[in-house]
Amino acid sequence: MRQITHSLAPGVALSGSRLSDVFDPNAGTVQAQVTLGDAALLDRAVAAAAAAQPAWAATNPQRRARVMFEFKRLVEANMEELARLLSSEHGKVIADAKGDIQRGLEVIEFACGIPHALKGEYTQGAGPGIDVYSMRQPLGIGAGITPFNFPAMIPLWMSGIALATGNAFILKPSERDPSVPVRLAELFLEAGLPEGVLQVVQGDKEMVDAILDHPGISAVSFVGSSDIAHYVYRRGVEAGKRVQAMGGAKNHGIVMPDADLDQVVNDLTGAAFGSAGERCMALPVVVPVTDKTANELREALVPAIAKLRIGVSTDADAHYGPVVNAAHKARVEGWIAKGVEEGAELVVDGRGFTLQGHEQGFFIGPSLFDHVTPAMESYREEIFGPVLQMVRAASFEEALALPSQHQYGNGVAIFTRNGHAAREFAHRVNVGMVGINVPIPVPVAYHSFGGWKRSAFGDINQHGMEGVRFWTKTKTITQRWPDGGVGDGANAFVIPTMG
Ligand code: NAD
Repeated sequence: MRQITHSLAPGVALSGSRLSDVFDPNAGTVQAQVTLGDAALLDRAVAAAAAAQPAWAATNPQRRARVMFEFKRLVEANMEELARLLSSEHGKVIADAKGDIQRGLEVIEFACGIPHALKGEYTQGAGPGIDVYSMRQPLGIGAGITPFNFPAMIPLWMSGIALATGNAFILKPSERDPSVPVRLAELFLEAGLPEGVLQVVQGDKEMVDAILDHPGISAVSFVGSSDIAHYVYRRGVEAGKRVQAMGGAKNHGIVMPDADLDQVVNDLTGAAFGSAGERCMALPVVVPVTDKTANELREALVPAIAKLRIGVSTDADAHYGPVVNAAHKARVEGWIAKGVEEGAELVVDGRGFTLQGHEQGFFIGPSLFDHVTPAMESYREEIFGPVLQMVRAASFEEALALPSQHQYGNGVAIFTRNGHAAREFAHRVNVGMVGINVPIPVPVAYHSFGGWKRSAFGDINQHGMEGVRFWTKTKTITQRWPDGGVGDGANAFVIPTMG
């Protein structure tokens, strides 16, 4: 059986004997095993990072940026291989796998501009002969803990900015698709990143806990489900670290009566079912305003859903592939059963779908529910599968209240031709990222990514200038130089007095 392991600085001895299965979701079989590291392994990785970080921090930002430029070139040159590897463990189709890598590379492009982002602030003459300036310095050693659903993009969100700002970085990727992060670390080395500055430690909860408790790690960036995000946030903060912890989501798409329904149907089928619904910015809830809109939308959605092609992840014509493993497939199907039990109308049932020749693969057909209500547990919780739930609203105000009152607040979209309604919605909705006629409002890399409520714990978002803030600490210097007989004595030092 093929074994997937860590990517460590030379000489870091291995430890940890447990293994975890990595599946081929298309076939439904185990294709490899990943070695799970332990606290002793992390300790040695932190020591190696601590040895490598000062020289990296002292490397001027332009040279650090050159590593980012070269890394981007290498990832682009290896795009096909990386996308196939990603797709073979995750199950998303090749086009989505390339998108996953490309969105991560956009953060690397941002990191190429790090000299500009690190310039700091300066005030001349804050007092007599006194100037004040601030600088951003790296934290030291940062760690990232990432989910299975974007095994390239999310590690690159974190590592790109953590490294460019002069930190050493330790990544603990998802044990479900651990290969691409290791490949990315190899490409970073090839791009000129010094050994020990970036390491990948494989593991599960044991490794996460070791990271959270390790006194040598100053900051932790986490992305995953909400209960674990909250746990990571609490434990990391308790240990005195800076923590950002992004959680789950239940994004709503509001459809106003004046929306372009053809466009909405097209956007919804992509945003609800693409990547088998395993995206934190998927659109699994649609809220048509008025019954007339709901009826028209439902009539158009049913045939559009029937046209979706589910296939193996290497099928270039497939809209989406299998979900990540058997446990997740059972979980999604369990939520469909729960929705039926709670009284929602199951208009299209995706359970029991099998792909000929791949009967053991983790495939789920698309499902559509109508007449879902806010009281239902299947509405309140994240399903994270190819399931679209329709919640009918009688008015704009009722539609606005649904995502605003939901426990999650990651993303939301409104479809309308009415600028006033769109503006009103964007300003008032209690959600972190808003799309106006944009179904998946993931911000571009030079803005920042972050949800509200139980979708994110901590105050600082991912990437953009917020990312730079997260991975650096501000030092402010107030300086005064005695005139040494050069000036007229006007800057003579006076001890400040109260009042
Ligand atoms: P997950 O929470 O199961 O795992 C995330 C990470 O936590 C993994 O590295 C995993 O090894 C680790 N982990 C798992 N169980 C743990 C435990 N008990 N204690 C400590 N660490 C543990 O998430 P997942 O299933 O890999 O990813 C899907 C989830 O991530 C969804 O909820 C999705 O919405 C969310 N997500 C959120 C965003 C965002 O930006 N808000 C982005 C992508 C995914």
